[in-house]
Amino acid sequence: MRALVFTRPSTVELLEVADPRPADGEVLVKVRAVGICGSELHGIRDSGFRRPPLVMGHEFAGTTPDGRRVTANPLLSCGVCDQCRIGRDHLCRERAILGIHRPGAFAEYVAVPERALHPLPPAMSFETAALIEPLANGVHALNLARPAPGARIAVLGAGTIGLVCLLVARQLTDQVVVCDLSAERLAVAERLGATAVTTELHGEFDVVVDAVGAAATHRMSVQHLRPGGTAVWVGLLSTDAAFDGQQIVREEKHVVGSYCYTAAEFAQAVTLAGEVALDWSTTFDLADGATIFGELMAGRQDVVKALLRPWGEE
Ligand SMILES: [Zn+2]
Ligand SMILES: [Zn+2]
Repeated sequence: MRALVFTRPSTVELLEVADPRPADGEVLVKVRAVGICGSELHGIRDSGFRRPPLVMGHEFAGTTPDGRRVTANPLLSCGVCDQCRIGRDHLCRERAILGIHRPGAFAEYVAVPERALHPLPPAMSFETAALIEPLANGVHALNLARPAPGARIAVLGAGTIGLVCLLVARQLTDQVVVCDLSAERLAVAERLGATAVTTELHGEFDVVVDAVGAAATHRMSVQHLRPGGTAVWVGLLSTDAAFDGQQIVREEKHVVGSYCYTAAEFAQAVTLAGEVALDWSTTFDLADGATIFGELMAGRQDVVKALLRPWGEE
């Protein structure tokens, strides 16, 4: 089959590789749409977390050999460790993620454990379904923040994760400000229901979601909180925490990290995806994947979420 393979730092290549062989309890999913994740654009600059050669791709939808239309929770947990046993399966000590620890969906086929599959609602397109995984990240981030009804929420970053956090936040309050440097992305945020969009954050918020993770946004997320407010960090751009630690003491601000989603939250996102606007992706053929990857890594802004399509428009 054809697959887009991470072969060496900063490089993905379209290669002919062997079809995955599903193990017991796994099925071969024919990939119909797969999203390129920001974490992949940054994650392949060096070979740290992801080890080449690797077929990445963890945001996808497709069909099973028996004709089911599905997406999959790519985070595979062990079910028996201390974290799994208390319902924090996303923090499983033995977790494996499709497209990181085992081959993912930048390919014609991906092998997926049957237990990870979720059937798609009948009317949902594969393009919408490929955004369920990012949406699940937004569900988790806002669950951690637990904003009161009507809370003032700021979202830093209007990339995919920022936009899904906006969509989830708008279900909880009508006061959501989105901050980004890109006018194109802010225009999308505005269309999706942001109360205000800005290139520079002003004012005070009950919750600030940092969907960037740069040193500057880390600092901003804490600075613009009301006393006792909560900053939820989702972005992974920098390891530099960068904020004034004394504010955590004197104003009892909370900073919490948000990682993926529980299995229950992923299931919620499958339903929610049918109710919110996930129509801001751009689809390319898998054959153009290496080019698109390069452009996105170089900072192309007009495409917020790029999806790859291994099988054309059949
Ligand atoms: Zn992702
Ligand atoms: Zn576990």
